[in-house]
Amino acid sequence: MRPFEYASPNSKEQVAALLGTSWEQGAILAGGTDLLALMKDDVVTPRRLVNVKGIDTLRGTSYQPGNGLRIGALTTIAELADSKDLAQYPMLFEAVTEAASPQIRNLATIGGNMCQRPRCWYFRSGMGLMPMTKDGKSLVVAGDNRYAAILGTQTGAYFVSPSTIAPALIAYGAKVRIYSAKASGSGVRELPLGRFFITPKSAKEREHDLKPDEMVIELIVPPPPQNLKTGYFEVRQKAAFDWPLAMAAVALQMDGNTVKSARVVMGHVAPVPWVSDEAAATLVGKTITPDTAMAAANAAVTKAKPLSMNKYKITLAKAAVKRAVLKAGGAA
Ligand SMILES: Cc1cc2nc3c(=O)[nH]c(=O)nc-3n(C[C@H](O)[C@H](O)[C@H](O)COP(=O)(O)OP(=O)(O)OC[C@H]3O[C@@H](n4cnc5c(N)ncnc54)[C@H](O)[C@@H]3O)c2cc1C
Repeated sequence: MRPFEYASPNSKEQVAALLGTSWEQGAILAGGTDLLALMKDDVVTPRRLVNVKGIDTLRGTSYQPGNGLRIGALTTIAELADSKDLAQYPMLFEAVTEAASPQIRNLATIGGNMCQRPRCWYFRSGMGLMPMTKDGKSLVVAGDNRYAAILGTQTGAYFVSPSTIAPALIAYGAKVRIYSAKASGSGVRELPLGRFFITPKSAKEREHDLKPDEMVIELIVPPPPQNLKTGYFEVRQKAAFDWPLAMAAVALQMDGNTVKSARVVMGHVAPVPWVSDEAAATLVGKTITPDTAMAAANAAVTKAKPLSMNKYKITLAKAAVKRAVLKAGGAA
């Protein structure tokens, strides 16, 4: 590992000053379950590590019926799973208890989970987010692409967004709050979590809407409306110590037995958590049956463009959507 400076600030204002204006200058260290592995492999090489774990105000959860759930960025996934506040959000509970492994959940923070870097093996070998052959073609298209994205690849980014918790949060309509020394007023900017994830257009860009000197401080999940039904489904090769091959998080606002509005969010199929408006539209005005769930699953992948080795992911993504919809409808 290369030498680096180490700082342990106790306020978010100090964090911003220590990070600097380029990614190479400084990196936030939270649980370290992702960042330290990337540094050991020489994939990221920050000159300064800014350990934020001393900022107590960024820890813990709280729930208020009018405002919903606040999750501090330094809350570990294990603490979140243990929080009584998750009783209101059964799909989020399922997502956090299925993520990673007990050991990792004890260290990994929710802020770090949102900001974790892609698991794409080209990226992890130091070839960047959009690896190219010498003649300027995508190495992923030409190479081993069995785990690559099947949706949203127009810019030439083929990695998949790794967080399995983000799709559940997005289905609940969560927002992310970011401390930015340059933002006016309190220095905090807020955006829908779905807009936090971006597909890079070039290898110089990142996959999150964060500047090098910004920090995620908390997530806000709105209070679940009455009659909200949710369903979550992951297709995994193994139950722990791994990421799924495809997954879906579904939130249905019901009017009796009929779907009034729907959110369908897929994971591990695109460079961002993939919100499928097409799948949601098929559900509105319907009751949940195996047929309507299948129609949503088919609609979710109509725009899929598989590569040479990952056509199977279409089948898995469809299965994840269908089963998540059936779970939400209570029919699974
Ligand atoms: C074997 C294994 C299996 C896993 N399985 C899953 C899974 O099923 N689902 C899943 O979702 N994840 C999974 N993970 C990933 C794991 O959840 C992440 O590594 C973890 O959540 C990252 O959190 P951390 O606090 O350790 O982040 P760190 O490693 O400290 O940081 C990760 C990145 O985020 C940045 N960062 C951290 N906190 C902030 C912040 N507050 N603001 C801005 N930037 C920040 C860091 O600079 C770094 O770039 C798995 C990991 C392993 C090793």
